[in-house]
Amino acid sequence: MNKKHQQLLLEIKEAAKATDFEKLLSLSKTGTDQDRIINGFAACIHAVRDGVGLDPFDEQIAAALALVEGKIAEMATGEGKTVSAVFAAFYNAMNGRSTHVMTFNDYLAKRDFKWMKPAYDLLGVSCAYITEKTPKEQRREAYKAEVLYISAKECCFDFLRDFVAQTPEETVMDELCAAIVDEADSILIDEARIPLVVAGEVEARADEDLPEIMAFVKDFTEDDYEISLENNNAYLTDEGAAKAEEHYGLDNLYDDQNRDLLMKINDSLKAWFLLAENKDYIVKDGSIRLIDKFTGRVAQNRHYPGTLQSAVEVKHSVTVTSRGTIMGMIPLQFFMRQYKHLCGMTGTAQSAEDEFDQLYGLQLEIIPPHTPSRRVDNQAEIYYDKTAKWNAVCGAVADAHKKGQPVLIGTEDIETGEMLAEMLRKSGIEDFQLLTAKNDEMEAEIIRNAGAPGKITISTSMAGRGVDIKLGGADEAEKDAVTKAGGLLVIGTYLAESSRINKQLMGRSGRQGDVGESRLFISLDEEIMSKYKLKSLVSRAHYPAKTAERLEDKVLAREVARIQRISEGDTLDERKRLLKFTMIGEKHREQIFSSRKRFLLGDSPGMWQADCPEMYERAVSKYGKNKVEDLERSTVIAKINDFWCEYLEYTAALREGVHLAVIGGKNPADEYNISAENYYNEMEERLRDAMAESLEELLEKGADNYRIAVPANICTYLLEDSGDELNKQPLLVGWLGESDEYEDKEEEPTATEQAETPSGEQKKKGFFGRLFGK
Ligand code: ADP
Ligand code: MG
Repeated sequence: MNKKHQQLLLEIKEAAKATDFEKLLSLSKTGTDQDRIINGFAACIHAVRDGVGLDPFDEQIAAALALVEGKIAEMATGEGKTVSAVFAAFYNAMNGRSTHVMTFNDYLAKRDFKWMKPAYDLLGVSCAYITEKTPKEQRREAYKAEVLYISAKECCFDFLRDFVAQTPEETVMDELCAAIVDEADSILIDEARIPLVVAGEVEARADEDLPEIMAFVKDFTEDDYEISLENNNAYLTDEGAAKAEEHYGLDNLYDDQNRDLLMKINDSLKAWFLLAENKDYIVKDGSIRLIDKFTGRVAQNRHYPGTLQSAVEVKHSVTVTSRGTIMGMIPLQFFMRQYKHLCGMTGTAQSAEDEFDQLYGLQLEIIPPHTPSRRVDNQAEIYYDKTAKWNAVCGAVADAHKKGQPVLIGTEDIETGEMLAEMLRKSGIEDFQLLTAKNDEMEAEIIRNAGAPGKITISTSMAGRGVDIKLGGADEAEKDAVTKAGGLLVIGTYLAESSRINKQLMGRSGRQGDVGESRLFISLDEEIMSKYKLKSLVSRAHYPAKTAERLEDKVLAREVARIQRISEGDTLDERKRLLKFTMIGEKHREQIFSSRKRFLLGDSPGMWQADCPEMYERAVSKYGKNKVEDLERSTVIAKINDFWCEYLEYTAALREGVHLAVIGGKNPADEYNISAENYYNEMEERLRDAMAESLEELLEKGADNYRIAVPANICTYLLEDSGDELNKQPLLVGWLGESDEYEDKEEEPTATEQAETPSGEQKKKGFFGRLFGK
């Protein structure tokens, strides 16, 4: 514990003893920051003691001090982080900051809220919780509380839903102020890249000209167009252009006034000659669904940008009236970065110190355990292949079970868990539980008892998180027997990408000074070994021949451990690389979200008056200024959503095409950023045009018949193929002969760095601007 905290701790405990609760409460609102901390924390000691029935340990208070300083507190599992959060949340409340305590899942949001509520009640701080099931009305109320318990995912979904709300009354949250993130490494690092999405059904307008254009284009011969597979594009040749000029009676197809037609001809060319059914997309249930090039799976709610989608629909005579479309998207990482005050706590932060710093600018503070753990962590046990490994795992489970020692086995995924379950059944062990994180509440109940004598629990890393495993069962009835048998045995069954993930599992045993044991079984045929080329790290002399026995070679063990460190470095690089592609979109998203919100809350866009003064005056004289301004506001917020959908489609296509820049020897991140920036800049102009058209429509149809199309059937979900297109790029780089050409030498962006606008000179039309540019 650092010196400053030690001193503070003494003063806090002194204040708690010397001063009565009511006095401390009033003192916690006044004086210097330090006074507030001392008196506020002292008040919390009383409130937790009297309200929750726990006497806070020094370590819990020290962790809270780290939280208040905006750090990540590392504190082992079972040390009582739930209580630490109360101190920090109370301090925030005293400083007028509302706090979101981000729990790992809905079950824990509800549990921690109920558990800590009596303390908040005594402190006079309002608190609430939200789960997936909370209805909208209650949600809005809950967001007004000074302390809110909610899972990060749920909170992010609310943020996205607010972005598509049509009236202020439909929104639920205010500014994002302070967040205390529980299991911070999982949420801020492991899950950080998963994009969360809000989607809705929008009306699809059939393009009137396209069918005719398509009919014209499909009779083209090979002289009329050119296909560039490399650029994933189709162009008109001079012959083709001449043909079009004759057909449409034009002097020059490339004149500005023919831009719209040219774009539609090009999109028709691409739709007809370049894109292929069942390779690029499938036609199903009367709609066109895109195939993700790399996974080969059908992508959800994804479309080709602009008229290309309509062109493919025309090609297949598909008429759509509405389209499921992604309306807003944000990776968890960027959602979390919006909080003005961010801090977190977890049992496993140390090996993620660099990530916390570089991705969020968060420093780490390690809090020692109140009572040191008596868990024994065994050396990793290495096997030649999976068969040998799983046999050894089954053997270890059976041995422990015989002794009455409870066992918790962590598997990489649900399928592996099921496979192990089957193996155990075959070996005559029927009495086990398999947890898959499908029902957190039910699984929490199971895991609470995972420390009972002879219990066998198989679990994925997500399942049962945050739930205390007490030796001898939830009521500790048979604690002595289990302690004698060696405490809880945790068994890891694979080498994770990061040692942190392996440690998360280990931490479930040996809580609060308990005895316990951990074992880790790995095999040389795990994917991670070939990914990081174990065979080339280990000399021939040390690389073993096939055997069912445990491999004891020290050199081999050392290199296997090195694999994990390489992987850790690699993952960090990968995250930083991805940041380069996401920063620009984040900058745009922030601007779009905030201007939409401004209009939603009542700011006047003033576009009609500025851009079309005559029409505006006419509308005002007909319907009155207020009515016209209301209509303009509703129109602009709907249009912003439309344009943002297109932006997301455009940039998704851009990312999918980004590997092509490697072929051109260019820096894909630069190319991506330039194109995204250009597209975004043009968007404002197009928005103004679209607004002018709307005003015209209003005057034509009259206010009573003027309709603003708004999306229906709003839903939220996690984008499964996370990190999506970019994640797969390294594969392709390898395929290109491991070219490093595009590697750029600049500094990596850090948490504090802003997304940069490409400089004027760079603002040339990008590679992909030509590809999809309009
Ligand atoms: P963590 O989130 O750090 O894993 P929890 O907040 O879930 O830990 O608490 C773990 C267990 O420790 C709970 O059973 C809780 O009742 C107990 N506990 C927490 N604080 C104290 C305390 N000050 N004294 C005794 N037990 C405590
Ligand atoms: Mg916890």
